[in-house]
Amino acid sequence: MAPNRALRQARCERAGWWLAQGVELVPLKPRSKELQPGYGPRRARIAALEVARQWFLKTDANLGVVLGGRVGLAVCDWDAAPAYQAWREAQGATLQTLTEQTARGYHVFVWGESLRQAASAGCEFKTRGVCMVSPSVHPSGVVYRLVTEAPIARLTAESARRFFPFLSEAPGQHTPEAGVGLAVMRACGKPTGARAAKDGVVARIKAARSIAAEMTAAGVKLQLAGKTTLVGRCPFHDDHRPSLWVNPESGLWGCNKPGCPAAGTHDLINFRALWRGLSLRAAIKQLADEFLGETPGKR
Ligand SMILES: [Zn+2]
Repeated sequence: MAPNRALRQARCERAGWWLAQGVELVPLKPRSKELQPGYGPRRARIAALEVARQWFLKTDANLGVVLGGRVGLAVCDWDAAPAYQAWREAQGATLQTLTEQTARGYHVFVWGESLRQAASAGCEFKTRGVCMVSPSVHPSGVVYRLVTEAPIARLTAESARRFFPFLSEAPGQHTPEAGVGLAVMRACGKPTGARAAKDGVVARIKAARSIAAEMTAAGVKLQLAGKTTLVGRCPFHDDHRPSLWVNPESGLWGCNKPGCPAAGTHDLINFRALWRGLSLRAAIKQLADEFLGETPGKR
């Protein structure tokens, strides 16, 4: 079999992307989900780009990511498209996160250190082991591909149950948590009462203040990287490379450095809260004062 250079190049690039997320890799046999000898979640793993290049640029090895780990990578593995589609319609449509198409189904990736393994009809929620990722080649010849190239969403056990109800028999009460982006919180359920009123203010704040302007005002220098993404040095950790990403269109941003207080996916409100050390409620009030002029006497 002639080496497929484009595919090798693409696998090597994805390997680099996963490493930048703090995820360790394992090489799999070409056109197979089988581990290469000596490698495994509890055996040798790839944590350096140099080693990844040796495997993925110079051989036809398939690319596997190690689930769990210190970054808490989890995947919801849908074995068939209809089950995935049904889930999307019922719960998943509002979850913006990295999603890949496999030979017959889909892989939906999330971060969550506190999540546990579970299975349901048509899918398996995995927090341990290895997951083959794009653009690996399935034994059938199908090449795994990215279908949603969003940043991986960070979920708490509580928010994960909202998107994947089978993770719990007794769905918990919705409580906003500081670590969860507001975008995710809003996606978690239909706003009612006080929450709906607060959402109205949040939407108007976001219409009045762009995330890029907010970051620039905080001294973050942003530059264009790709068609729709801005990057800059993260102000929330000692950043020597641009780890901070911003999507001005969605207003979402995050830091790619695992363990950084800004790791994950956040919005404008979270930025203000983190930057000024405020609660989300106080951040909303401050932004409303500044940009909506809703609390008189401040400016
Ligand atoms: Zn950071």
